[in-house]
Amino acid sequence: MRQKQFKAESKKLLDLMINSIYTHKEIFLRELISNASDAIDKLYFKSLTDNSVTLTKDDFRILLTVNKEDRQLIISDNGIGMTAEELENNLGVIAKSGSQKFKAENSDENIDIIGQFGVGFYSSFMVSKNVKVISKAHGNDEAYCWESSGAEGYTITPCEKEEAGTDIILTICDNTDEVNYDEYLESYRISALIKRYSNYIRYPIKMEFETSVPVEGKEGEYEKVKELRTLNSMLPIWKKSKSEITEDEYNTFYKDVFYDYEEPLRVIHAKTEGNATYNALLYVPSHAPYDYYSKDFEKGLQLYSKGVLISDKCSELLPDYFNFIRGIVDSEDLSLNISREMLQHDHQLKLIAKTLEKKIRTELTKMLNTDREKYEKFFDSFGNSLKFGIYSDYGMHKDDLIDLLMFKSSGDKKYVTLKEYAERMKSEQPSIYYASGETIDRIEMLPQVEKVKDMGYEILYLTDYIDEFALKTAMTYENKPFINICADDADFATEEEKDAVKAENEDNSDMFAFMKDALSDISAVRFTNKLKNHPVCLTNEGQISAEMEKVLQAMPDSKDVKAQYVLEINMNHPIAEKLKNLYSEDKDKLSAYAKLLYNQARLIGGLSIEDPLEFSKLICDLM
Ligand code: ADP
Repeated sequence: MRQKQFKAESKKLLDLMINSIYTHKEIFLRELISNASDAIDKLYFKSLTDNSVTLTKDDFRILLTVNKEDRQLIISDNGIGMTAEELENNLGVIAKSGSQKFKAENSDENIDIIGQFGVGFYSSFMVSKNVKVISKAHGNDEAYCWESSGAEGYTITPCEKEEAGTDIILTICDNTDEVNYDEYLESYRISALIKRYSNYIRYPIKMEFETSVPVEGKEGEYEKVKELRTLNSMLPIWKKSKSEITEDEYNTFYKDVFYDYEEPLRVIHAKTEGNATYNALLYVPSHAPYDYYSKDFEKGLQLYSKGVLISDKCSELLPDYFNFIRGIVDSEDLSLNISREMLQHDHQLKLIAKTLEKKIRTELTKMLNTDREKYEKFFDSFGNSLKFGIYSDYGMHKDDLIDLLMFKSSGDKKYVTLKEYAERMKSEQPSIYYASGETIDRIEMLPQVEKVKDMGYEILYLTDYIDEFALKTAMTYENKPFINICADDADFATEEEKDAVKAENEDNSDMFAFMKDALSDISAVRFTNKLKNHPVCLTNEGQISAEMEKVLQAMPDSKDVKAQYVLEINMNHPIAEKLKNLYSEDKDKLSAYAKLLYNQARLIGGLSIEDPLEFSKLICDLM
C-alpha cells in the first residue's frame, strides 16, 4: 500500500507540532475531546429529525482508555464518524479555517500559533509517535483506519469497527530528557486535564479506573475492579451562581466554546425571573473575528432550552448593532422542538431579546464609565457597529446608542464622548463641530480647522466612512446641532463678521459670477472670513460632504451622488485684492487664477485635480 504525503503546509504545521514547547503539549486532549463532542453533536442533531439514528441523548459519550503496556491512549466517541473520503479530506490537510490563519501567523513567531488557536487534530502529534484513527460513518457499512507516524505521510486502509463513531488511538512518545510523556498515560493527570479544559463538554467523558475493593465474605482480601467514572461536571457554567465561578473559569469557557485565543473584554452573566425566564452568559470579545467584515459573518447567540442546545446561532436574540456579542442563552420557557421559522415569531424570544439588548447597553455604559482603557479597545474593534446602529432603521435607536460613541478630537487627539465634549464646550458655542477626512493628519491640514481652533472650539475628527452618516442621522446632541466646519453654512462667525462678508460678496458679485463661469462643477464662488492663513478652501452646500461623496460613489447603485462645492476665498488674504484688480484689468488672467485656486482648494481638501495637464500648464505660464 502506498503511503500518501501531507499537503505542504500541513507538513510544516506537523513539524511545528512535533517540536512544540512543553507547556503547549497538553492541549492535544482538549482538541481531540472537542472534535469528539462536535461529532456527537452532529449525530445528535440528526437524531432529532432522522429515524435511522437509534441512539438517544443519554447514549452519547466520549470514552477514554489507557493501555500502559502499549503506551496507548484511546479517545473514542459514538458520534457521526467519517467515511474514507472524509478521513482523506479532513486529516490529510489542515482544516481550511485553520490554514488561512496559519499562513497569516506563521511568518515569524512560529510557536505562537499553537497557543493562539485550536490546532485541532494535528496536535495529537505533540505527544504521539503514532496516531491511528479508526472511524465508521453513520449509515455506512465499512470502517477505515487512517494511520500516520508523523510528517512522513499517512495511509488509509479498510478495517473492522462495530458502531458508528471514531476511535483515536495515540501511541504516546517515549520519555526524553526534557519531556516526561508518561504523564499522558496516568489517569489522575488525564482527569485533571479534562477538568481544566473540557469540564463543560455536554456529553459525559468517561474513563475506566481500576480500584481495589474488599472481597465480600473474605476478610483482608481485595480484588481489582474496573469502574467507569465521568470526569467532567457537565453542569452548564451559566447555571451556577456568580459567586461560584472564577474569572478564569468564565474566560476558559469562552475560549473553548467560541474558539477565541484572547480573553474577552467583559463578561455579562444575567439571570432573570418573571416575564422571560432565562440565564444568559454573554461576552464582549476583545477583537473582531477574522470574518467579521465579510458577508459570511453571522451574528447570534447559542440558544438552549433547559440545558439542551436548540440553535447554535440564534440571530433573533441580538440587534445588528450588537452583532459582536458572543454567548449563550438558556430559557425554560421555550419548546424543545421549536423550529427556526417558529423561533422568529416566538413571543418569549422577543421578550428575551429586548431585555438582553438593554442589559448589554447597561454593561457597555458601565465599561465606558469604569474602565476607559478597555472601552477604547472595545470601541476600536466594534465602534463601527454602534455607528451603524445610529444610522440604520431611520435613526430609531439613536438615543439609545449616542452616548456610547467616541471620536478623536482636536482637543488632544484622544477619544472623547459627546457628553465629555458637551461638558467642556464654551458656553457661547452654538454647535458641535466636526471635520471629516481620511486621517487625523489630513483633517488637520484643512484650512477651516485653524480658524475654528483659534476660536477655542473643539473639533471632532471623523475618520471612519460611517461617522458622518451617523452624526447626520443623530442631528443634535443636547440640542446642539452637529456642524461640519467645511459646510457653507457653518455658523461660527459673529453677526458682525457675517455682515462684513455679506457686504463684500455683494460688492463683488459680478466678479464671482465671472469666476464661476470659468470653472465647471462649482455651485458658487465667494469670499469668506472662515480662513486664517490659507487663501482658499472648498466647502459643501447641502447635505452631501466631500467625504460622503467618496463613500457614496464607491457604492454600487449611487454613482450619480455628488457633493455641491463652493469655492471660498479668504477675504483677508492679499489674493483677494489681486483678484479684484484682475477683474478690472485682465479677465483672461482672472480666469486662469480661478482655475488655479480651485485646484489648490481641491488638493488641500484631499480631492484629486480634475485636469492635471491644464493645471500644470497654468503653473508654467505663471512661472
Ligand atoms: P477543526 O476541528 O478545527 O475543523 P481538526 O483538524 O481538529 O480541525 O479536524 C478536522 C476535521 O476532521 C473536523 O472538522 C471534522 O470534520 C473531522 N473530525 C475530526 N475528529 C473527528 C471525530 N472524532 N469524528 C468525526 N469527525 C472528526
